[in-house]
Amino acid sequence: MPDNSPLDMSWILSVWIQSPRHANLSDALSYGWTQALPVGQLVRVPMGARHVLGIVVKSTARSELDQELGYQIKPILSVFEGLDPLSSNWLALVEFAAHYYQRSMGEMALSALPPQMRSLTDEQIQKKLQKWQRKFTSTQVVQEKALTQEKDLPPWSPRSLSPDQQQVLKSIAADTGPFLLFGQTGSGKTEVYLQAIESVLKQNPKAQVLIMVPEINLTPQLMARVKERFEEHLGQHSLVCQHSGMTPAQRLNAWLAAHQGQASIVLGTRMSIFMSIPRLAMIVVDEEHDASYKQQEGSRYSARDLAIYRARLEGAKVILGSATPSLESWHQSEPTGKYQRLYMNQKIGGAAHAKVIRVDMNHQPRNTIVSAPLLQALKARLLGHEQSILLLNRRGYAPIIQCNSCGWMTQCSHCSAYKVFHKLDRSLRCHHCGHTSRVPASCPVCADQDLGMLGLGTQKIEEHLAQLLQPFEEELGRPIRVQRVDADSTKTKDSLEQQLSAFHAGEVDILVGTQMIAKGHDFRRVSLVAAIDPDSGLFSSDFRAPERLFALLMQAGGRAGRDGQMNEQSSPELWIQTRHPKHKIFTALKTFDYEQFAKDELEERTLANMPPFSAQALIRAEGKTQEGAQLFLSAIKACVTELLSQDESCVGCEVFAYSVVPMALRRVANMERAQMLLESPSRAQLQHLLGKLHEPMQAIRKKHKDIVRWAIDVDPQQL
Ligand code: ADP
Ligand code: ZN
Ligand code: ZN
Repeated sequence: MPDNSPLDMSWILSVWIQSPRHANLSDALSYGWTQALPVGQLVRVPMGARHVLGIVVKSTARSELDQELGYQIKPILSVFEGLDPLSSNWLALVEFAAHYYQRSMGEMALSALPPQMRSLTDEQIQKKLQKWQRKFTSTQVVQEKALTQEKDLPPWSPRSLSPDQQQVLKSIAADTGPFLLFGQTGSGKTEVYLQAIESVLKQNPKAQVLIMVPEINLTPQLMARVKERFEEHLGQHSLVCQHSGMTPAQRLNAWLAAHQGQASIVLGTRMSIFMSIPRLAMIVVDEEHDASYKQQEGSRYSARDLAIYRARLEGAKVILGSATPSLESWHQSEPTGKYQRLYMNQKIGGAAHAKVIRVDMNHQPRNTIVSAPLLQALKARLLGHEQSILLLNRRGYAPIIQCNSCGWMTQCSHCSAYKVFHKLDRSLRCHHCGHTSRVPASCPVCADQDLGMLGLGTQKIEEHLAQLLQPFEEELGRPIRVQRVDADSTKTKDSLEQQLSAFHAGEVDILVGTQMIAKGHDFRRVSLVAAIDPDSGLFSSDFRAPERLFALLMQAGGRAGRDGQMNEQSSPELWIQTRHPKHKIFTALKTFDYEQFAKDELEERTLANMPPFSAQALIRAEGKTQEGAQLFLSAIKACVTELLSQDESCVGCEVFAYSVVPMALRRVANMERAQMLLESPSRAQLQHLLGKLHEPMQAIRKKHKDIVRWAIDVDPQQL
């Protein structure tokens, strides 16, 4: 409609649009329209010179306004007629998340919609919907038939369940949850999810289910199992994915299928917690302990925590599953907590736990990478046609070039990080800012040409191992195949899958990689997993480092000997090369005793008032200078002190503001970074204070012009 036509704007619509909270726009903007629109309706509105996507959250008759608006109201541009409005539960979820994580509703809501929605017109979306609808209806018939007729037939899964699985499924059916499914790797948790989903869908053929996994890498494997189980009954268009590895068009299609209620099962990464799923009946959070459920930029939400909230909103059941639950969830599932803990202690097929073997690196020659006993064990596996995995902590292992004469190292000129040597193109690359340069021929400080490697990357280990094993090839009568998998080797799409499938197929003898290979992958012929140097996880400024290390090693141990059927296979072993073999993490690991580990760790956390016994929020700032960043945070700290002593509603709140400190990685891309931690025994009090702090922080921000970025991270996962 032309802009200058006189429009009867007798209704005022409140609309959320994308605007960060710091931008100082109030949460909803007002636009005029000829009629009221349903809450949750998607519209397009003018914003300055741009046309942007918006969500209607309220319609008010102009005649009922308390006072006439003091500015000229603009009409909205168009309405997405073909789309159902977003549900009130979805809006409530977004509203909660925005409050909790200190963002604007508009930012939270709009960034949760598929990006392509912003650029398509109503007509284009309608066309997509029609196309989708046609595809879908052709399979829907199958679905309805399958669902209605099969009620009395045997289950879709012909499998007989283990006693543990039966017990757990009974509890899930009978109780309301939330459930924490604490089950060994290989105890059949995934099977439990699938059967729980099956019974939900049989009860209500129109129900929808959300399954979340922590990483994109894990979606293909799980989707394959979901398809195998459900495709024939539900039709292929009822199973959709949602993650950032999909194209914008794929994401929009999947989003529409879920939003219009056609997708029965949505499988995705953390972002899928914000999918519009109007008939959501169950949420599964697999590997719930995984730190990837926390978004690390923008709105820093925890998809696992939001899953609990969303399930309550929607009256859906939620299952968190893990062999090494987060200590937060573990604590919540103690008798005093709100979750119901379900146990699965037995591995399917009676597969044994890996035997834990510690190598005391204090007794090995200096600079040993692969100790002699480990090398012998690797050789034995090679002879037995079994596979091994060597696991590296990502941290501390980047290959960094050092001058052997003066000690100069290849520091990035923009960051407080060292550049990493990439052999393929002989470049030095900063893994933080991406800055790339060539390897110098000689040391820029002392001109000596004796430049060598400090620390080891997966690439280096791969080479080193090939050297160590080479004398052995003759005896074996064939070449030994070592494959490296890390963030660099898998940059190109699909290559992780390809590399892993070569390993699955037995084309590779030894896999060398970072934590990404320890997660969730189901390798059948692996009988040995070795952590080359896990010690950096024992001592860290981050109190969660031991928890992460323990989980990683438990998962890694679970990779070994998954197949109870393979009798001729050597017994599975988990090797740990450490300078601290008596550390209590390793003693708990020896018996795969997560419960003991959790008990010890929670005791320590209680004494130190750490989460889950306190709530935290981290305020971070980035600026041109460290001093500037710290001054900004100090001003905020002073404001906290003032609120606590003078603001009526905050006096008596127990919130503690720690000192302002530089971040662990202090400089990134020429930006100095600092942080300040807030902590309180009461989540509610901390939330209250953060809310109060918001406006003063805007004012402080204006006075500190050299601050480039700042953010509040509620429940930070990395300190
Ligand atoms: P988890 O998710 O706990 O690691 P899975 O569900 O993947 O465990 O099960 C481990 C293996 O055991 C898989 O190969 C799975 O197909 C198989 N499995 C699971 N439940 C059963 C069962 N009841 N009977 C036979 N095999 C099963
Ligand atoms: Zn030098
Ligand atoms: Zn850099």
